[in-house]
Amino acid sequence: MRLEARPAQVYVGLYDRLPHPGLGAVQEFVFDIGITATRPVVLTDVVWRVYDQTDHVALVRQRLGQAAMHELTLGQYGVAPGMGLIIPRCYFLEQGAIPLSHVRVSAAGYDYETQAAVTATLEIPLVYHQQRARLRLPMASGAWWAITGNDWSSMHKADPVSWAFAYDFVKLGPDGQSYTGRGLRNEDHYSFGQAVLAPAGGKIVFVRDDMPDQPPGQPPDGAQLAGEAARVAGNVVVIGHGYGEFSYLAHLQAGSVQVKVGDMVRKGQPVAAVGNSGHSPGPHLHYHFQDGPNLFVDRGLPVLFSDFLAVGDRVKQATIPSRMIVSPAPATR
Ligand SMILES: [Zn+2]
Repeated sequence: MRLEARPAQVYVGLYDRLPHPGLGAVQEFVFDIGITATRPVVLTDVVWRVYDQTDHVALVRQRLGQAAMHELTLGQYGVAPGMGLIIPRCYFLEQGAIPLSHVRVSAAGYDYETQAAVTATLEIPLVYHQQRARLRLPMASGAWWAITGNDWSSMHKADPVSWAFAYDFVKLGPDGQSYTGRGLRNEDHYSFGQAVLAPAGGKIVFVRDDMPDQPPGQPPDGAQLAGEAARVAGNVVVIGHGYGEFSYLAHLQAGSVQVKVGDMVRKGQPVAAVGNSGHSPGPHLHYHFQDGPNLFVDRGLPVLFSDFLAVGDRVKQATIPSRMIVSPAPATR
């Protein structure tokens, strides 16, 4: 029996700098476990233990589970050669900033034919990314609602590993709403057509600009996504900032992409406009930061943004949690 983790090393999002004082530090991480066997095995239990850097077990919580409960009792679950088992989205949350070291996963069962006990263990290193790029918000002005931010409630935790710390921003109008009327047309949405700016300087490493904008609430047809799963992100611009840090801007407006692969961009330079291309519920800007240029392959990094306005304050550098309303600080233009 063999255990594998995806990714093999897991980034921890440590949110110790939040815009509003008093929220306290929180950290979280997510990964998938794969279990395979070369002989038929009956798996009975899987146990996770999270260790801190002094090798103590840290009592962290799983997203929907109880405190300090990290066991999965499978009863009798067969794993045969050529037919593995995946335990997707193993998610952990810790209130506080104790530096964590690794997760030890242990699986136990028995050989189906010989009845002999079978066990396997895997140590998954937990790593903290030291962000080099100073990222501004990728929007020009106005109030933007982070419908998805860096915290436990992000829907993107269920997506590929590069999206674990992704943001979704929606612009709010003077009425505090994200669209006028019934919002059935893209043009009814305040976000649609708004400039998308380079969050930091760098080189354009990937562009897709051949996808149409979808009407709000309507997923793209299969033909648009055929052959390449990454087309769910619609039109995209990917910027390499150096030091293995990449910005991924997605669901961009059809015909709005102003850059091509190889171009150098400066911080704050317009690169496209907010759209509704790919698999998107309505016009919004999807932004994530990853450790390589490839969606579905490289790992998502937690994000610190610099110089923005939130809760009436000007914030120097912080993580933006879900549902916070933020604006770019005027002088960062
Ligand atoms: Zn998104």
